[in-house]
Amino acid sequence: KAKDIATLSRTKDILSRHGFAFKKSLGQNFLIDTNVLHNITEAAEITKDDAVIEIGPGIGSLTEQIARKAGCVVAYEIDQRLIPILQETLAPYDNITVLNEDILKANVAEMIQEQLSGYTSIKVVANLPYYVTTPILLKLLQENLPLSCIVVMLQKEVGERMTAAPGNKTYGSLSIAVQYYTTAAMAMTVPKTVFVPQPNVDSAVIRLDVRTAPVAEVKDEAFFFTVIRTAFSKRRKTLLNNLLSLNPADAEVPYDKPYLQETLAALGIDGTRRAETLNIAEFAAIANKLGCV
Ligand code: SAM
Repeated sequence: KAKDIATLSRTKDILSRHGFAFKKSLGQNFLIDTNVLHNITEAAEITKDDAVIEIGPGIGSLTEQIARKAGCVVAYEIDQRLIPILQETLAPYDNITVLNEDILKANVAEMIQEQLSGYTSIKVVANLPYYVTTPILLKLLQENLPLSCIVVMLQKEVGERMTAAPGNKTYGSLSIAVQYYTTAAMAMTVPKTVFVPQPNVDSAVIRLDVRTAPVAEVKDEAFFFTVIRTAFSKRRKTLLNNLLSLNPADAEVPYDKPYLQETLAALGIDGTRRAETLNIAEFAAIANKLGCV
């Protein structure tokens, strides 16, 4: 069995031999704790039937732990300087493909079709670059990729928002954007000390299980998300008062107070509630009703 990459001494040795300097702008905080890595792969319940997509392999510390358990790994790394390092560190494994690409620009659907079509289960497992956590996750979810689950390390505060339930003070449009596609749960919180260099924020690992059936029927997804953003725009205002600023230019009926009051009443939703108390089905009902005038 190859020696773990993720120890402080091995990591330091790899970085110094290659003269590697961290780029803060790329969110480069590498994991140096094998226990945390095991916990991540455990949370993803990886088996040899799984193909795993990793985002940001760094020097390969998480990649190798995934490769030992998964059928195969495809890892997207934006930083060209890491490619020769990964070639060296991941040499003991024959089931890893590293792609020197920006995940936000990559055609992941095409890669899956071309390289992973033999797998019944495809998972995403990553220690994400924190400056692009939300765009990466929303891209993966909105592209409706054939994923079964996503297990990622991210900023604790963002993880809390993504997994928050209605009524929680961090519940908002991000919670709904994520939970519309998945069931989201916090797997663990992680201290700063398990990274080099240490990030400024606390971290957490979340698990998102992609829904196989929609949580609510939504007639027009774009409008549904517009309604949600509008409903949360002023957190201290009531649902009704926030929705007043919806008024699309092409609406036949203006979304004025009496009209909104009547619509919400017909749905059995009290307009004096705050947006943070509404669940996804309630937002879907409002959007479906308002959208079909
Ligand atoms: N997986 C490694 C670990 O756990 O030690 C490194 C994780 S580090 C937090 C994030 C990694 O993502 C870095 O290697 C960085 O270069 C890479 N990265 C940053 N932006 C990226 C992007 N847009 N697409 C792909 N990789 C990216």
